[in-house]
Amino acid sequence: MEDTIFSKIIKREIPANIRHETDEFLAFDDINPQAKTHVLFITKKPIESIIDLNEEEKDHELVGRLILEARNWAKAEGITGYRLKFHCGKAGGQEVFHLHMHLLSNQG
Ligand code: 5GP
Repeated sequence: MEDTIFSKIIKREIPANIRHETDEFLAFDDINPQAKTHVLFITKKPIESIIDLNEEEKDHELVGRLILEARNWAKAEGITGYRLKFHCGKAGGQEVFHLHMHLLSNQG
């Protein structure tokens, strides 16, 4: 997989307002927020899209942990309601081909 803006954010080659980090995931503010809180939760593993999940490599379990990480982060932030969104493929509105989930809330 080629480098994307998000892989460069992981490597700290370009700046982002980082909100949370684990061995597997990074979360940072979306540069063009669509809600009061708009955080992108990305995998450090280079996967282009939900469309490219590899079941043999248990990528679905990684995505499950990504959702739990976002759930736990929101709870710690006192955010009680939010939307989680994946854009899947160009025809699904995806612009950055590095797996990510949007967390949007009017709280935070
Ligand atoms: P998607 O690929 O799911 O459509 O969305 C990509 C998201 O990444 C967009 O909401 C866009 O605003 C955000 N984005 C694009 N470039 C950057 C960047 O350089 N930094 C940050 N923080 N967000 C970005």
